[in-house]
Order: sequence, then structure tokens, then C-alpha cells
Amino acid sequence: MPVTRDATLDWMKRFAGEMAEHRAELVALDTAIGDGDHGTNMNRGMTKALEKLDGAEQADPGAVLKTVAMALVSSVGGAAGPLYGTLFLQMGGALAGETEVDLPRYAAAWRKGLEGVQARGKAQPGDKTMVDAMTPAVEALEGASDLDSGLQAAVQAAEEGMKATTPLIARKGRASYLGERSKDHQDPGATSTYYLFKTAAEALAG
Ligand code: ADP
Ligand code: MG
Repeated sequence: MPVTRDATLDWMKRFAGEMAEHRAELVALDTAIGDGDHGTNMNRGMTKALEKLDGAEQADPGAVLKTVAMALVSSVGGAAGPLYGTLFLQMGGALAGETEVDLPRYAAAWRKGLEGVQARGKAQPGDKTMVDAMTPAVEALEGASDLDSGLQAAVQAAEEGMKATTPLIARKGRASYLGERSKDHQDPGATSTYYLFKTAAEALAG
């Protein structure tokens, strides 16, 4: 099944649902190594995104993702709002005007998004951020032979990347202020990124 406008809408609705369901978990993770707002930030931003998606019809998958990007940037302060905003804006640009997106195009859109996140936040893999979950997941999509197996591999890679943030010392974002004390905690942004891939697989895989 290719990635369509409707499937992209379903993905974003599922992601919003997951951010509501896991708000407290993300708050707890961010309380340990940040300021405790990641869950409320993401829940507020995705609630706003759903309002915007309901308020007007989007022509294609790119327009859906750009609408989400605008909502996140305008409603979420802090690091993750603009970073996810950049991700969705870049992905949306790559998918503008498309009706049925195949695996190579979908993977290329993710690559654009990840490049945007890194251009904006300057994080490299190993810095204990969302980039640690996103990078291996995007690589899994790029290395796959079909969309369904690519999405399954991406979810697994994102989960492993998320878990691998636990022993790391943070080098970007608020958690980096803690230095050594950021060790032994899973990164909140890597965790929300895992949920983004999990919902992508649920919505976009056949
Ligand atoms: P804030 O840190 O401003 O309170 P959030 O709590 O919503 O914002 O988001 C924190 C998450 O943002 C971190 O767990 C990390 O994954 C991600 N993050 C922070 N800074 C960066 C960065 N420079 N590059 C990539 N991700 C980052
Ligand atoms: Mg925070």
C-alpha cells in the first residue's frame, strides 16, 4: 500500500493519540533530565495539529505534514516543537503534490526531514536526542525492499535507538546541562520519535 493523503492523516491522528496516551511517560522522562514538559509540549502541539487538520482539507500528504508543522511551531515552545516542526516541514516539502508515495520517495522525505532536524539542532547520533532514534530508523527505510517491511524494520530500529540513549551523556539540549548526571535515563525526544515510527507502521503498512 502506498502512502496516500488519507493514510498520512491517519498517521498524524494516531501520533496525536499516542502523545496524549503517553503524555505522563514523556513528562516523567523529561523530569529526570530536563524540565518535565516534553509530554505536555507534544500533546498540546498535536492537539493543535488535529484542530488545524480538521479545519481545512489538505490536498496531498505534503500538505498534511506542513499543516502539522505549522501547528507545532506556533503552539510548542522549547526545543522539540521547532525540531518536529522542521521535520514535518521538510518531509511535507518532499511529498508536496504526490498522491501515492512509494518506499524510495517516503524514505527520501524522511532523509530530508532528518537533515532539517540536524541542520537546526546540530545534534549527531550519540548526543542523546531524537536523532538517535530517527537516524537508524531512516536508514532502515532506505535499506528496505518494500514499504511494509521497511516500516517494520524502522520501528525496530527506532526502538533500539531510543533504548540506546539510556547510557549516553547528553551533549545537546537541556539534558546536556546535567553532564554525567544525564546518564542512565532514556531520552524523552528519542521516545516520542519511536512513537512517531510506531504509528507510521500502524497507519501506512498494509
Ligand atoms: P525543552 O528541552 O526545550 O524543554 P522538550 O522537553 O519538548 O523541549 O524536548 C526535549 C527533547 O528535545 C530532548 O529529549 C531531545 O530529544 C530533543 N532535543 C533537544 N535539543 C535537541 C537538539 N539540539 N537536536 C535534536 N534534538 C534535541
Ligand atoms: Mg523539556
